[in-house]
Amino acid sequence: MRVDVHTHVYPDRIAEVITGIMERDFGYDAVTTGTVDGVKSHMRDSGVDKSIVLGVAERVDQVRGINDWLISIQDDMLVPFGAIHPDLEDMPGEVRLLRENGIKGIKLHPIMNQFYPDDPKMFPVYEEMGENMVLEIHSGKWPHTKPGDPLYAAPERVMNVVRRFPKLKVIALHLGGFYMLDEAERELIGRENVLIDTTWPPSVKEVGIKTLTTIINKHGINKVCFGTDFPLASQTVDAEFIDSLAITDTDKEKILGENARELIGL
Ligand SMILES: [Zn+2]
Repeated sequence: MRVDVHTHVYPDRIAEVITGIMERDFGYDAVTTGTVDGVKSHMRDSGVDKSIVLGVAERVDQVRGINDWLISIQDDMLVPFGAIHPDLEDMPGEVRLLRENGIKGIKLHPIMNQFYPDDPKMFPVYEEMGENMVLEIHSGKWPHTKPGDPLYAAPERVMNVVRRFPKLKVIALHLGGFYMLDEAERELIGRENVLIDTTWPPSVKEVGIKTLTTIINKHGINKVCFGTDFPLASQTVDAEFIDSLAITDTDKEKILGENARELIGL
């Protein structure tokens, strides 16, 4: 089974606007508009069976609407993870509601929502998630983070959570450190109880074969999941790059879906 653990999809009426904002912020074109129909047709073209759709809420008052919509798009192809905002009055209650409605995980975005994931105020979220739900967390910074900006999602912060909640299922996104690979290699790569994904828009090609292979081998073939950041990256192009690595076919299938299938329970 092929699984992309990292996609963003929006309701039709706002998808075009949001995709445009993403293109402006990142400085390159999206592969298509991030709608339900858009991702499904892209998945059919690229041979991806299931996409994890990550919920992100810029403002706390958006959380309920976003999560209700995510709950409504669950099907054979789309596996949404709910959004949690640090200013929510009842974060564990929201996690419970998501779980009761079939949602298998949550996404945290410490940079966008300006909080440190190892802040004790977040601990009730991790406790409520227990040993079954999966946490996907942005790890690293932005390409456009300025020197001196707070590093909310530094790999070390993510590892503090992993160490404190060793049974929590965690995927540290962007190879464990977007634009912070040195720190990721020091703090996170090769450690236990944390998986990483290969998301590196506009394409994981930018990381290069040598660096990517080193990271995969050091972290462990069973702890790396294929991710793209669709619509900012192409599932076809990034899967082909994984396919070109000098690792066995079995190991490629683990990265391209089997590891995620097992962790998330798909
Ligand atoms: Zn993303």
